[in-house]
Amino acid sequence: MRVLIVGKGKSGFGAYNLLVSLGHTAFMVDDDEFNNEDNLFNGLSFLVLSPGVSLTSPWVKECVKRKIKVISELELGSMFLKSQYYAITGTNGKTTVTRLLGELMKTRKKTWVGGNIGISLSSFALKAKRQDAVIIEVSSFMLETIDKFKPKIAAITNITPDHLNRHKTMQNYINLKFKIFKNMTCYDYAVLNADDDIIMAKSKGLKLNKYYFSTKKEVRGCFIKNGNIYFKDDFKLICISKSNVISLIGEHNKSNVLCALLMLILSGGNHKSVLNVIKNFKLDSHRIEKVGEFGGVSFIDDSKATNVASTLASVKSFSSPIILLVGGSDKQSDFTLLTNNLPKNVKYVITFGEVRNKLASALKSTVFNSFSQFKTLKDAIIEAISFAKSKDVVLLSPACASFDEFSSYAERGRFFEKVVKEKLGEKSAQKIEAKPKT
Ligand code: ADP
Repeated sequence: MRVLIVGKGKSGFGAYNLLVSLGHTAFMVDDDEFNNEDNLFNGLSFLVLSPGVSLTSPWVKECVKRKIKVISELELGSMFLKSQYYAITGTNGKTTVTRLLGELMKTRKKTWVGGNIGISLSSFALKAKRQDAVIIEVSSFMLETIDKFKPKIAAITNITPDHLNRHKTMQNYINLKFKIFKNMTCYDYAVLNADDDIIMAKSKGLKLNKYYFSTKKEVRGCFIKNGNIYFKDDFKLICISKSNVISLIGEHNKSNVLCALLMLILSGGNHKSVLNVIKNFKLDSHRIEKVGEFGGVSFIDDSKATNVASTLASVKSFSSPIILLVGGSDKQSDFTLLTNNLPKNVKYVITFGEVRNKLASALKSTVFNSFSQFKTLKDAIIEAISFAKSKDVVLLSPACASFDEFSSYAERGRFFEKVVKEKLGEKSAQKIEAKPKT
């Protein structure tokens, strides 16, 4: 086979190594290296698209014109999997659920975790044995070009507006998320968030074995009631544990734990042997992560909150007064969904970056007066430090992508931590200097 791979990131390299190790000819190009020479396209078996490359890429258009199949790197990897695989998509919580399910599954069998989490499926697809478990985080971008991808269990954590700059309409985005079930049958499991109205409405016609998770109500699946976690199916109701086994901050993380636990149970796993794993599970960096404390003020890095719903989940996780830092680059988000729903303990909002004016307009329209605008994140942090009082939380939870100032959410989070530590270091030095000599 001759295969063209667009995108030279981790997915592209994973696809390349997989194909070459099987004796195929593969060549990699970047999106901006387009040329339509016949010798590139003649005899091409298919094109593999990395998730970062959009369907509007000229490479894709040329392949469509020449009737050459376009598949995602996820599709390529899954073509070579011998084991059953479990997939997680949704607007928020994908990485948390994927990683937690990986940890839970490891108590039973050899487990491979990959996909959108930063390890391409192609990089381990050939290594995973039939008896192993494979857990895959799947983004909406990856779902655009799946064809035969068919997980045994697939979950949608939640759906709220995001990436509308790429998907254009909310309906397109919802349809894409549900595409994860495309090839699954009534012998496969759909794991659905019963607290999410969009998911519940869209899943009505879904002809799969449907199970649900909820932090609010009794469902067929996993739910929390009166401080206990339960599993219920058509035959039994089992009390799994007290819900305080979940040590993670926030209601949203309870929902994530229920989702992972339900997937484990449906895969045949025993809930009893995993309670310790749940208890000790820690979130990845830049997800409501405390990076400093000074004078009773806590500094929290939630740089991974790149849409409105994740920022709302974050602010709702604190009862102390919050100074909220929001901003970055625009994804055509409707910020009134954020500003209309800010809890009362958000006492001051500092907007920064490319979208600072749009955010400020949304705040004004919701009659929220206590806010200011700064061009850079650094200036926003300095303002937050000078404004904060004991018991406040300074929360970077941007609700936006980072690309106006940074290369990734991780770089933005590290920058926040660095500036906070520098400024607090200066403050504590000033304090020591100011102390009278005895
Ligand atoms: P994803 O992989 O979907 O981006 P993560 O687990 O990395 O999800 O979390 C991303 C951001 O979303 C973090 O700021 C986190 O606090 C928030 N988040 C996590 N789970 C949820 C959820 N179930 N609902 C809303 N926000 C969530």
